[in-house]
Amino acid sequence: MIYKRSSALFKEAEQYIPGGVNSPVRAFKAVGGTPIFAKSAKGAYVYDEDENRFIDYINSWGPMILGHAFEPVVDAVVDKAKAGTSFGMPTELETHIAKLAVSMVPNIDKIRFVNSGTEACMSAVRLARGYTKKDKIIKFAGCYHGHSDAFLIQAGSGAVTFGTPNSPGVTQGTAKDTLLARYNDINNVEALIEANKGEIACIILEPVAGNMGCIPPKDNFLQELRVLCDANNILLIFDEVMTGFRLAKGGAQELFNVKADIVCFGKVIGGGLPVGAFAANNDIMSHLAPLGPVYQAGTLSGNPLAMAAGYAMLNTLNEDAGVFKRLEEKTAYLHEGISEVLNTQGITHTINRLGSMISVHFSEKKIEDFETAATGNNDTFKAFFHGMLKEGVYIAPSAFETWFLCDALTYEDLDFTIEAVRKVAKSL
Ligand SMILES: *Cc1c(COP(=O)(O)O)cnc(C)c1O
Repeated sequence: MIYKRSSALFKEAEQYIPGGVNSPVRAFKAVGGTPIFAKSAKGAYVYDEDENRFIDYINSWGPMILGHAFEPVVDAVVDKAKAGTSFGMPTELETHIAKLAVSMVPNIDKIRFVNSGTEACMSAVRLARGYTKKDKIIKFAGCYHGHSDAFLIQAGSGAVTFGTPNSPGVTQGTAKDTLLARYNDINNVEALIEANKGEIACIILEPVAGNMGCIPPKDNFLQELRVLCDANNILLIFDEVMTGFRLAKGGAQELFNVKADIVCFGKVIGGGLPVGAFAANNDIMSHLAPLGPVYQAGTLSGNPLAMAAGYAMLNTLNEDAGVFKRLEEKTAYLHEGISEVLNTQGITHTINRLGSMISVHFSEKKIEDFETAATGNNDTFKAFFHGMLKEGVYIAPSAFETWFLCDALTYEDLDFTIEAVRKVAKSL
């Protein structure tokens, strides 16, 4: 494959945009090489500036669950654009999408739309703090909740006491209010709560982790978190930016039958336009401005184009009863195919999967938290990534990312992918 035009475009971009990209992981730093510039996409395929075609397992990092340029979404956006792209006034469409989202997701009465997953999580934590009148939060190592200060914290050895920032610019003052726990380790969470009695406003987590590869919660982990939260007057926040409207209509809450107090959305809910949202029951949401004192706002929040895209997407997911099952079956098929190939070639690996989220780890360990996710062989992953790219399959350019399947994928595409793995595996 030739990436001539992409290479030239990247060089030019680097002169004017830091690192040539507007979001770091696009820069291929974890795998080396030059990022590929997308030109267009349709269904399961993305086309680059050199006219190469790739089967796409990133799907814009999740939103394109029905495939690229999905017609009802595109038509809705085009129609809306002709009637004006932003008003800064309420529109009827905002109520339609809110009503639909509330009907699809359990345990929520009201939803507030924002412009990104980052904003959703940041606002959810502020609301939890305002509601409980407590300051500290618990997050899990390896869970990503966007790039707001409170979340850019990683464990020092003294995780039970103070977090330490892992981005310059995050102050110690912010870091000390973020406590870091081990994913899937309920005892660790319990110890943190004990050591910070009466000070914790909320626990935020990805109910199925997707930002350290795909890591499903252990049996009862979510249920046990619910019990701990109830016993300690702590709000449980499910960050369903990745899992919402992907694993089921009602997301992880529905799938695991666990109630969250606040739920965050992004990705699928915007159908590929910049949308995030957070939602809760009437009691909690009544604390939000203009009803209550917790402030949150956005000039472009509820933007008509974004709402049109999101509404078309949610409507389709709501009406197509088979979509989540189809996605799960396709992902299971891919899982089996890749497992068979890697086993035949004797390549050490672990595959994690839930619904339409899947990740291949080049490690012999069970991958169940950040520590075990980090045991993957990164050199093998790099070679695998570039090999797959050469074969026309685009997976996320980092071993810590999940692959997302879209409904536009055919079984021929999946077979093509499995055959690509077979070719690439020979040289790993
Ligand atoms: C992508 C993601 C975010 C951040 O969303 P942005 O729209 O990139 O700001 C937050 N939480 C999770 C779980 C995500 O996967």
